[in-house]
Amino acid sequence: MESLKQLINKCEGLAFDLNYTRAKQWKSEGDGRVLVGYMPIYFPREIIHAMNGLAVGILGGGDKKQIIRGDAYYQSYICHMPRGIIELALDGHFDQFDGFLFPSICDVIRNLSGMFRVLRKGKFVKYMDFPQNFQKHIGGEFFKYELMDIVDKISKINKVKFSPEKLNEGIQLFNKNRALINAVYGLRKKSPWKISADEVYSIIRAGYVIPVEEHNEILKKAIELLGSMDGEPMDKIRVMIIGAFCEQPPLSLIKTIEQAGCYIIEDDFLLGSKWIQGDVEAGTSDPVGAIVDAYLNKSTFSSTVYDVDNPKEVRMIKLFNESKADGIIFAAPSFCDPALLDHPILQSSCHDNDIRYISFLFSENTGQFKVIKEQVGTFSDSIKLWEGETVNLK
Ligand code: SF4
Repeated sequence: MESLKQLINKCEGLAFDLNYTRAKQWKSEGDGRVLVGYMPIYFPREIIHAMNGLAVGILGGGDKKQIIRGDAYYQSYICHMPRGIIELALDGHFDQFDGFLFPSICDVIRNLSGMFRVLRKGKFVKYMDFPQNFQKHIGGEFFKYELMDIVDKISKINKVKFSPEKLNEGIQLFNKNRALINAVYGLRKKSPWKISADEVYSIIRAGYVIPVEEHNEILKKAIELLGSMDGEPMDKIRVMIIGAFCEQPPLSLIKTIEQAGCYIIEDDFLLGSKWIQGDVEAGTSDPVGAIVDAYLNKSTFSSTVYDVDNPKEVRMIKLFNESKADGIIFAAPSFCDPALLDHPILQSSCHDNDIRYISFLFSENTGQFKVIKEQVGTFSDSIKLWEGETVNLK
């Protein structure tokens, strides 16, 4: 039987395969199949699944792709991820992809969609506004219209007719996927010494580039293997990471945080895979409406969402308490406007609730972690030293 280590190695290979080999292989295995790349953060992959497609999460080149031409497309004072994505596009990594979706999260992503158009990548490129009005008859209708536009675009390519039954089937598969991801996170929260945060990360990230059915099998196997393990608890604090929802930290940064004395028990890495909190209603006669309802009513909090009626700082504190965390690490990509504009609000809320926190910036290709390791190590020590004492941060 495959060991947990072997499973994690396989997932790491899939997750960081910048040639998207498994996705391309899947496409070649059947007629009328399409690959649709989507940028962070969230897109309802169920829609692509229903149209005989595979939605492939594109997260940049990380620390695995040297940027040679990508820099020329952007000014210096923006985050790193889009340069990596352009580099991948220029080097032909997406050549078998049929279309690209750019969910509206910031101006950088908007501009990236324009560059894909200029470069004539894929058969369609769509910059997609997500509703910021959460009323069903306004934002809901708009979102439905946008999703059906994507259905039309794919149908023109592969001639597949939209079927509510197929979409309901996809909804069930992705509901299962989120439930299994939650189960892995649940095990990690309960016994974080059994599997490290970077290992969990690789397992979840593999799901961005393979069919959901295969990812569900991987998650089930991981849960089974974790259930049969013991392991020894270590003297570490429990932390929550906030701010890394779009550009992803390098794997070695996640490892560094844990080696410096922390268990990462909650985070916003790969946020799209856990965006919907709970299930999308399955088996209805209007499955697109069910996806829209889930977005309007079950979305997680994020800096990219206008949430005046449901403030993210309140939701962050609630999640912190539920996770039984000891502190928060605000880790945002350099020059990430959405994350950095929110940090003062979120940190002020930490002050009000006597929650200890630190913050630093990273970029997906950061290679030196000495300063971060010292900062996190000091944070961990200070919490351990004054454990149980209330620190008035006001
Ligand atoms: S990392 Fe931040 S600034 Fe960069 S594309 Fe993502 S949301 Fe935009």
